[in-house]
Amino acid sequence: MLALSISNLKKQYSKGPEALKGINLEVKQGDFFGLLGPNGAGKTTTLGVLVGLVTKTEGQIKVFNKDLDKSPTEVKNSIGIVLQEINLETFGKVEDSILDQAGYYGIPRSKAKPKAEKVMKMLNIWEKRNALNRQLSGGMKRRVMIAKALMHNPKLLILDEPTAGVDAELRIETWNLLKRLNKKGLTIILTTHYLEEAEYLCKNIAIINHGKILLNTSTKELVTTLDKETFILDTDKPIKNLKSKEFKIKITDTNQLELTLAKKDNLNKFFHFLDKHNIKVLSMRNKQNRLEQLFLDLIKNRRSK
Ligand code: ATP
Repeated sequence: MLALSISNLKKQYSKGPEALKGINLEVKQGDFFGLLGPNGAGKTTTLGVLVGLVTKTEGQIKVFNKDLDKSPTEVKNSIGIVLQEINLETFGKVEDSILDQAGYYGIPRSKAKPKAEKVMKMLNIWEKRNALNRQLSGGMKRRVMIAKALMHNPKLLILDEPTAGVDAELRIETWNLLKRLNKKGLTIILTTHYLEEAEYLCKNIAIINHGKILLNTSTKELVTTLDKETFILDTDKPIKNLKSKEFKIKITDTNQLELTLAKKDNLNKFFHFLDKHNIKVLSMRNKQNRLEQLFLDLIKNRRSK
């Protein structure tokens, strides 16, 4: 079953850009899905539409087969959302914040209490139940946010940049927590700027830029692609026929060929192979593939943050 299906989603802000230009996405039940993209790509807008914070201009959204337009309450009840900003009542107690959230979903206090205990224990914040929110560390606060989002038993948990501005230790703690939740069967979608976050957590990834999905693939596939490097080599003589079982080569011009190697492979072996065929290399350069370029852009963007 699909946890989420988005077809031709468009959003034109009245005083702003066309933030989404016809997005199509599918997320399977049980998936851990990452939506990656630089600042302003359209990630938050997409999530905003899903949880009713942003009105779409066009398109169809289904959550566990329920149409957002036809069954907004059912859709809302099946989603838990953790926004980027931590918005907890400063002087409120941890347990009260969590119980109040259940109240917004019409869950009576008597039912919410044991549920809150279960959730707090699972997230390792049970000891902190009587602390004031303001006394918590950043990581603990985020756990309280996650606890709130889980109170109404959502089947889909959405997190907007869950580790933005979080130090390395807390990031790993949050990652492990999310992995555990996913293992228990919860479908998770997160947005992130960090490729390594998506690599570590997500089974599937979509890359969004300027309101369009550029790439939608499994993380495994993506990592394999990123592990390869392509070189362009100019040779001293025309090459008509050069075949190899070991190397992936393509003759691109009379005196030019393209070689694709896994990053761990040794380039020297290839030069020996060319030597055997009496071919000399006059010059060589790295061919940047589209995907690598895309990620370089993402990384550059991350550094400038
Ligand atoms: P970030 O990683 O910085 O959070 P994002 O991928 O989540 O970025 P969005 O916040 O969805 O991107 O923004 C997409 C585009 O829509 C941007 O150009 C942004 O300036 C614009 N935008 C977002 N919200 C509004 C709004 N309320 N009114 C007008 N334009 C908006």
